[in-house]
Amino acid sequence: MSTPLQLAILGGDGIGPEVVGAAMNVLEAVAPACDYQYDATHFPFSATHFLETGHVLSDEDVAELRNFDAIFLGAVGGLPNDPRLAGGVIEKGILLKLRFDLDQYINLRPVTLYPGIDTPLKDKAAEHIDFICVRENTEDLYCGVGGFVRKGTAQEVSNQTMVATRFGAERCIRYAFELAKTRQRKLLTLVHKTNVLTFAGDTWYRTFKEVAEEYPDVSTDYHHVDACCMYMVAKPEVYDVIVVPNMFGDIITDLGAAIAGGMGIASSGNLNPDGVAPSMFEPVHGSAPDIAGQNLANPIATIDSLGLLLRETGRIKGHTAAVECGNRVAAAVKAVTPKFAGKSLDRSGFGTDEIGRMVIDAL
Ligand code: NAD
Repeated sequence: MSTPLQLAILGGDGIGPEVVGAAMNVLEAVAPACDYQYDATHFPFSATHFLETGHVLSDEDVAELRNFDAIFLGAVGGLPNDPRLAGGVIEKGILLKLRFDLDQYINLRPVTLYPGIDTPLKDKAAEHIDFICVRENTEDLYCGVGGFVRKGTAQEVSNQTMVATRFGAERCIRYAFELAKTRQRKLLTLVHKTNVLTFAGDTWYRTFKEVAEEYPDVSTDYHHVDACCMYMVAKPEVYDVIVVPNMFGDIITDLGAAIAGGMGIASSGNLNPDGVAPSMFEPVHGSAPDIAGQNLANPIATIDSLGLLLRETGRIKGHTAAVECGNRVAAAVKAVTPKFAGKSLDRSGFGTDEIGRMVIDAL
């Protein structure tokens, strides 16, 4: 039996604590079967905590979180138009701060159509929708480079600069090649807009071509991001692994979630693949204040994110029991999704705890 994995749990706001609670029950159920040990420590960082205390997330908090092997997050955010939360205080103060400070430079978003889940795409089934997006997570338009001149006047000027470094592109592209190498199809597609973004796009394209020479077993392709949107809807089967910079990745991964059945099923990981700081795993949906506290939230995306946490953290930390647990959780989720056939994932009629129990029964 290896050292217990140290998990930091941030339930967050709204339905966050409910869906994380259901996922933690799954973790408790699966762990003994894999001879797997973990310690879970809960943290209050959230919009609710900010409104009560004025505290978001300090450098000292991040330093404390660094001691953990992984972070498991429900969702953070209050009512969308709450003026007390204006200016992205929670998004920037918690989500982006953790991604940047912990150098979680990969955003991993699987796009898989599970059994029983409806896709809005006509004539497409599970065999057509099974790919994974590797989105760069720390550069591009998200660096906050830019500003205003003459703000609030008729001559107002604003600019926001796209940042692409060779270092940032290369480490992301390398991660994507390593991932593609482990998959059956071994196909990696770079998505960018090199015909217009002739500087940042050029850095990415040349880096992609150079790194590709080290991976002769991986086939490569390139799509402009606008063509990628079309293919994801018309021919999603052309994709196996996609590597994409931050801004375009933000957009196409939501399109990916939509074709795989919607936010109710989408899981994600923000990875520090070098293991020098913890990675963070979360469902893609938000805190859904409209249904909070009513046992209506579907915890499937969160439970699937737990599976991703166990697999990826296990790989990064060389913890095989965690990988085994992650595989079991993923298999149990796939065994449960047929029960949603013909139902809306978000309003299935099943309660949060009921769905959690279904997954535990399937383990
Ligand atoms: P949302 O994803 O919270 O909700 C959108 C719709 O989907 C709502 O009708 C909600 O009831 C439904 N829904 C979402 N998840 C569900 C689930 N698991 N089961 C059943 N129904 C579900 O998006 P929103 O309403 O735009 O945002 C609400 C708050 O969440 C905002 O404060 C926003 O900033 C925040 N948010 C946080 C994250 C995050 O923490 N990563 C992501 C997105 C939004």
